Amino acid sequence: MVVFPPADLDLIPQRACHDIDKEVEFFNLALEAVRKDMSELSSTLETRLRPEERELFAVYLRMLDDDALGKEVIERIRQGQWAQGSLAEVAKDHVRAFETMKDPYLRERAADIKDLCSRVLFHLQNRNVTKTEYPNDTILVGEELTAAMLAEVPKEKLLGLVSVKGSGNSHVAILARTMGIPTTMGVVDLPYRQLDGRELIVDGYNGQVYSNPSDQLRNRYREVIKEEEQLVRGLEGLIDLPCETLDSHRMNLWVNTGLMSDVVRSLDHGAEGIGLFRTEVPFLLSERFPSEQEQTAIYREQLAAFSPKPVTMRTLDIGGDKALPYFPIEEENPFLGWRGIRVTLDHPEIFISQVRAMIRASEGLDNLQIMLPMVSNTQEVTGSIQIIKRAYRELREEGLEVRMPPIGVMIEVPAAVYQTRTLSRLVDFISVGSNDLTQYLLAVDRNNPRVASLYSSFHPSVLQALRYVVEQAHLENKPVSICGEMAGDPGGAVLLMAMGYDVLSMNATTLLKVKAVIRSLTFSAAKQLLEQVMTMDDAQMVRSCIDMALYNAGVDRLLRSSRNN
Ligand code: PEP
Ligand code: MG
Repeated sequence: MVVFPPADLDLIPQRACHDIDKEVEFFNLALEAVRKDMSELSSTLETRLRPEERELFAVYLRMLDDDALGKEVIERIRQGQWAQGSLAEVAKDHVRAFETMKDPYLRERAADIKDLCSRVLFHLQNRNVTKTEYPNDTILVGEELTAAMLAEVPKEKLLGLVSVKGSGNSHVAILARTMGIPTTMGVVDLPYRQLDGRELIVDGYNGQVYSNPSDQLRNRYREVIKEEEQLVRGLEGLIDLPCETLDSHRMNLWVNTGLMSDVVRSLDHGAEGIGLFRTEVPFLLSERFPSEQEQTAIYREQLAAFSPKPVTMRTLDIGGDKALPYFPIEEENPFLGWRGIRVTLDHPEIFISQVRAMIRASEGLDNLQIMLPMVSNTQEVTGSIQIIKRAYRELREEGLEVRMPPIGVMIEVPAAVYQTRTLSRLVDFISVGSNDLTQYLLAVDRNNPRVASLYSSFHPSVLQALRYVVEQAHLENKPVSICGEMAGDPGGAVLLMAMGYDVLSMNATTLLKVKAVIRSLTFSAAKQLLEQVMTMDDAQMVRSCIDMALYNAGVDRLLRSSRNN
């Protein structure tokens, strides 16, 4: 199913219509509604408009009166295309025709046509408000999939995701990975608008999408699915076993969550704590800022399910590629802009109600930890601690029996790397966000498919930074965890363990694979591997060296279905 954001003519998919007369009727009603809007608008603005602006409304009304445009759309509907698709095609043809005209005045009319057609589209879409029926085995396809689009599909029906924009490090991809849904991102050349209703194979391991697959290809992928299922079943025996190396080095494996369903899966996979609860996920799926009371209920669920195991809640991390529909942030350079802690410190009312909800939710459970995202200086930390302490004091005064939670800082920005020791003195724990740290160290937008091949957490500079952070935090006797995607990559996990990370926090779906790999190696072999890769000067060499080491240790078979096709 091809999905698209509302009122955008450029993103309407082609779709067959079943009831042609009804579709024509929808279209005529939408046209009528725009005609009414236009004449109302022009009469209310009459006294405030300049004559040439008033003329524009007259032109619009004439375009609608003259049935040329409408007639063309109806002809296409009669050929079996739904009204929105027909309108989008007609608009495209006319806009293109006007844009190529020599006369500048006529060229500008292209924008008028686009605007007019967008208005008709708006009414068409508002008329079609009946809830979308998602078929069984839905693969969601879109120009730029969002968390909200994903959330709209009933979970049992959603099989795969394909997004033209974004990369494997985008937040929607991370969310999909958490839910264990095969996903392909950044398929820039895909004629996705023609894929509605087609049979697809989504190979998330190799970033491939096949439409109308042959029987042979279908059978091959059925085998891959079977093999993957066997692999997962084979790992289930590890759920209750400790995560320790052959020479008894114990590693803590925690999980990253966003939704309650992640919590259930995490517990099923034997997770020992939550290293990152992305609190923005429930915010992204809401229609407005959730109240303190609503937040308390959401947080309590996570804390109660994991109690007495620790739950690390990150304060709201919006901005970058995570925009709340009800709190739009328009910026030229969003990843270097108003993100994470910067937003919440500028909006203390959002910050305080969130931490009050967190602390209130922890009453009687006492397993809450609070973590601050996107920190780039010490003032952000001291300012945040003040707010958290204030929330705590208020709640105590209100009579709640709560404890002050441990507070941690995320190291996601190069500036924070070099201040790890200073930051460690201010807080109780450190957690590395390797997704953003990789993006900012390498100057590679994590969301841009064009530069995705340059994005690697195995780049020697990233490895140096990761090792430096552990060493510095340990000098202050503060525990260090890592909650970026690298922790869930079996090879990455081995290196991070060797560096001395105390906790690896990952998606529940990768937890048992990582555990299996760690249990098959010795800590001293992992340290040797680390020493070897730290002398290398290229990310690809590092990756091959790790793959080879896992192969030689015979653990690559645990990852087989991801490598074999
Ligand atoms: C990170 O940046 O590594 C991280 C864990 O945070 P997010 O992916 O949500 O930005
Ligand atoms: Mg981050």
